[in-house]
Amino acid sequence: MPENTYNTIIVGGGIAGLTSAAYLSREGQKILLIEKNKECGGLVNSFSRDGFHFDSGVRALEDAGIIFPMLKDLNIQLEVVKSPVSLGIENEIIQIENLNSLNEYRELLIKFYPESADEIDEVLKSICKIMKHMDVLYGIENPVFKDLKNDRDFIFKKLLPWLPKFIFTVGKINRMNMPVENYLETIIKNPSLRDIISQHFFKNTPTFFAMSYFSLYLDYFYPKGGVGKLAEALKKKILECGGEIMTETKIIEVAADKSLLKDQNNITYKYDNLIWAADLKTFYKITETEGLSPKIKTKFEEAKNNMLKNRGGDSVFSLFLEVDESLESFRKIAHGHFFYTPSKLGLGQTHREELDYLLRNFEKVDKDHILTWLDKFIRLNTYEISIPGLKDPELVPPGKTGIIISFLAEYDLFSKIQKAGWLDEFIHEIEKRVLSVISDSVYPILKDKIIAHFSYTPLSIENRVGSSEGAITGWAFHKSMPVINKIQSSDQSVLTPLPSIYQAFHDRKIKEHHPLNCNNDKIKFRF
Ligand SMILES: Cc1cc2nc3c(=O)[nH]c(=O)nc-3n(C[C@H](O)[C@H](O)[C@H](O)COP(=O)(O)OP(=O)(O)OC[C@H]3O[C@@H](n4cnc5c(N)ncnc54)[C@H](O)[C@@H]3O)c2cc1C
Repeated sequence: MPENTYNTIIVGGGIAGLTSAAYLSREGQKILLIEKNKECGGLVNSFSRDGFHFDSGVRALEDAGIIFPMLKDLNIQLEVVKSPVSLGIENEIIQIENLNSLNEYRELLIKFYPESADEIDEVLKSICKIMKHMDVLYGIENPVFKDLKNDRDFIFKKLLPWLPKFIFTVGKINRMNMPVENYLETIIKNPSLRDIISQHFFKNTPTFFAMSYFSLYLDYFYPKGGVGKLAEALKKKILECGGEIMTETKIIEVAADKSLLKDQNNITYKYDNLIWAADLKTFYKITETEGLSPKIKTKFEEAKNNMLKNRGGDSVFSLFLEVDESLESFRKIAHGHFFYTPSKLGLGQTHREELDYLLRNFEKVDKDHILTWLDKFIRLNTYEISIPGLKDPELVPPGKTGIIISFLAEYDLFSKIQKAGWLDEFIHEIEKRVLSVISDSVYPILKDKIIAHFSYTPLSIENRVGSSEGAITGWAFHKSMPVINKIQSSDQSVLTPLPSIYQAFHDRKIKEHHPLNCNNDKIKFRF
């Protein structure tokens, strides 16, 4: 093949692009993976600063019946440890060790909301039911990674007996699609309790997804050396299989009629097949369809309109701390992956109507109004706290601890404040409040022990990985999604209206809950 011509070019070196590239290079294709950043991994990435290792995207990984079978299939050895989870409200913390921890969760909730004991039991019944569904979903080794042509034992003894149960379960799951907030309203009267159960999920998260989290807590694992080791391992595999990787190269144009890509230096690359594993709005904005048939062009324009009028899903604010205190002091309080709510009151309308009001009237409201809102938002929120050193002590200098404290954050607020010229001040105000709330509650040991700190906002995420609205997992749940997200048709989710162009980008809902999400012989790369 001439230079700069490839069987498949993959744009985006996040976990989706890396996975695609690893499989296709193993198949013997001439492939090129193009990544705009210096490093691959996207939101599956770790970095170090002053001897502290942090994870900049996802804090731990869920096997979800996919990652381990995939690693085995690709013959990749990754050293991993369990990443146990703790849950806490105010001064009560429970450790999620096994399924029996569900009883402790029940007691935790009843301690704070004794008048709602019956309702809590109702919710727990629902969680148990969903856990059974999850057992079916992950009940066999993921068929996508099995040799279905030759492994007759697997087909007849495992796959075929499992399929009817799977289809039945999918039906049940699809009926649990209502937003978790609405579902909880049908069971729980106390709005604070509803918030405490659901406020750390994305807005309008489908009930099945949210309620399945108790099972997923038990599924978390952590690669030794940090989450980014998974990306590094895939990168190594691609290179071993003869694939090419080009970093610091940003694709700025797709000429679909000529099967050509153009980068920021006007260098062109020719493909037979293209996998777009980066932001989809960007893809639709930079793709030219001029010489294609009118039918394809119309389909493309329809898809483009649909894509561009949609929004990326929720984003996140992360505060990174370098702390002069030993891991042991933190280990006594909670595991290295910790969901903590400092107040049992719950966010109420703080992150909904009150935030919407601020955004709609941004030009009219003054800074003080926003900071007063921020006080409440930080006091009542739920935090995901990750301490990489508690999972792998090599990740911190001796006697010290690195901590990441994060919460879901609204991209538009940061964007408007940036335009108004006081983003740095706003970040400082957030950091001050988060540190005060966390050190006045669960980690008093933080006081006076912080050596250095820095933060990533939704705007940092947008800048680094290029995802629209700083989204971390795809599309907002409260709008109709412009991509296929039904379990039963997930094999179609990689198709675009354009011939020889496929998409593989953030799609949490399918990814986490669908063992057959790669079930397409032709397109074996879906992650
Ligand atoms: C704090 C946090 C917690 C999370 N928790 C979970 C969780 O518990 N479970 C879960 O399943 N997921 C979770 N996620 C989400 C998960 O990390 C992402 O869904 C997943 O990593 C997305 O992978 P991706 O390859 O689709 O996209 P990305 O990681 O966004 O990768 C896209 C890549 O494309 C590159 N790129 C973009 N534009 C171009 C261009 N024009 N040219 C070349 N390259 C380009 C980017 O630089 C990037 O490397 C979390 C994310 C965060 C940030």
